[in-house]
Amino acid sequence: MRNISKIAAARLTGRGGAEFPTAFKWLAVAKAKLEKFDRPAYIICNATEGEPGVFKDKHILRYFPGEVINGIRIALEELGAEKAYIYVQRKDLNTIKKRLTPFIKKLPIRFFAEDGGYLCGEETTLLEQMEGRRPEPRLRPPFPTEHGLHGCPTLVNNVETFYYISQIVKDEYRHTRFYCLSGAIRNPGVFELPIDLTIAEVLKKTKNIPRCKFFLQVGGGAAGEILLPDETNRPLKGAGAIIVYDRAKTKPQELMTRWIEFFFKSNCGKCAPCREGLYRLREELKKAKPDWLMMRAILETMRDASFCALGKSVYTPMLGLLEKV
Ligand code: SF4
Repeated sequence: MRNISKIAAARLTGRGGAEFPTAFKWLAVAKAKLEKFDRPAYIICNATEGEPGVFKDKHILRYFPGEVINGIRIALEELGAEKAYIYVQRKDLNTIKKRLTPFIKKLPIRFFAEDGGYLCGEETTLLEQMEGRRPEPRLRPPFPTEHGLHGCPTLVNNVETFYYISQIVKDEYRHTRFYCLSGAIRNPGVFELPIDLTIAEVLKKTKNIPRCKFFLQVGGGAAGEILLPDETNRPLKGAGAIIVYDRAKTKPQELMTRWIEFFFKSNCGKCAPCREGLYRLREELKKAKPDWLMMRAILETMRDASFCALGKSVYTPMLGLLEKV
């Protein structure tokens, strides 16, 4: 448990977007493994990353594959797990496999590739697909930490989280995170910077202060929150994306259509508020004059009644754009 104490002391939170304290998750798996001593435990490294504006995991897998494998190795040993899987999108399998295989050596780490898409970033959806079922989220509890892959205790962490676990255990963690910057800026890309920088400081340090009148979308790509320039004096939350939009060149209805098309293609169809809500929003946005009041009511229903985070999260960017831009 020495490494779990180190992770707790570093206050590491999951870097997939949910920001759940990593040490709690590891402890929950360790506890479940003691209770279900006759069952194996599994580790899953989630490398699906399917949202527009979020591309840090690909960067980490490209430049720091050894760190990621070391993080997975630490989890295997600390939790006494039988096997680890790296879950990747099928189109990325060959590239990622080529980069990581030299570091895997004799470790029990396997690749699992599917055409999962954005929704498989959600850990129970990922588990459903790995067990051969339709990719849709499970009801929780039970949580994957106690009832995960094939009913066994399972730790699901993101690529960036494993990268930082490796640093923490080696006493090299400097409280940084990866930021993905894109949009109407001069210097887009992935940057590793202190976690407590404000969004304004991140733009400044990366030489990306926009020259135009702008607004931002921060956190998780298409699901990210809309901010005006005077709201950037706070640290970034979520999956690390900062997308800058030029106000003069951005048509709100077109931007909303792009988001809704993305969510429409990504939703699993399991629950009516999200499935039907996205269909209605899509139809409304095709009109020259959408009924914004009705769209607002649909978005509120989706936020309050959708089964999982995908349906709930559509409200945030859409309302932000409607009210602020
Ligand atoms: S909210 Fe959307 S993605 Fe989530 S279960 Fe319902 S239909 Fe599927």
